[in-house]
Amino acid sequence: MRWSLKVASVAGIEVRIHLTFLLFLAWIWFSYYQVAGLPGAVQGVLFILSLFACVLLHEFGHAFAARAFGIATPDITLLPIGGVARLTRIPDKPWQELVVAIAGPLVNVVIAAALIFVVHRSAELEQLQYLESPRIELLSKLASVNVMLVLFNLIPAFPMDGGRILRALLAMALPYTQATQIAAWIGQGLAIVFGIFGLFGNPLLIFIAFFIFAGAQQEAAIARAKESSRPAAKD
Ligand code: ZN
Repeated sequence: MRWSLKVASVAGIEVRIHLTFLLFLAWIWFSYYQVAGLPGAVQGVLFILSLFACVLLHEFGHAFAARAFGIATPDITLLPIGGVARLTRIPDKPWQELVVAIAGPLVNVVIAAALIFVVHRSAELEQLQYLESPRIELLSKLASVNVMLVLFNLIPAFPMDGGRILRALLAMALPYTQATQIAAWIGQGLAIVFGIFGLFGNPLLIFIAFFIFAGAQQEAAIARAKESSRPAAKD
């Protein structure tokens, strides 16, 4: 991906950070600094970095699941809107795509469960200081963010994992292109619903709606291109 820096290499997978992500971090720093000074800025950036560490682990979930099916992931890039694991190809069999798509959110389920366990244990051990401890506050905030990541990613619309899960389930009964088209339509229907809710409520939903709508169109185009490039079957 252009405009990205390599920061690490884990198990043969490059971890890259997009320049817009660095701008995003700078923006977080300054906006927290204005409200809560230096300690606030440090805490704000620390929280965002821990959140994106969870996003990164989510992407590694996809990458390692793909590797089990012989599909390489040359790199994972972090962007302000999330992470992108660049798989060299989409699994051929629908059940494999299902496993690869589920593996990401599953990582966040595990992280959330572990964090909730740790927070509850700490609450039992240090009952008095419990509420004031910034460490516990960060961990419980991180736990709820992981739950939100799972719910957001399971929205059955491209480019979210939920869209791929839906397509994989449909592709078990239908041809791949048709499954993608139906999944794209469902995604676009959801995008329209989000857009309408966004107009009357949270404007963030309008942004998500555009994001989903574009994702659905792109996914359908990729599936059609894949179909037309495939040599015609002879019967
Ligand atoms: Zn994912």
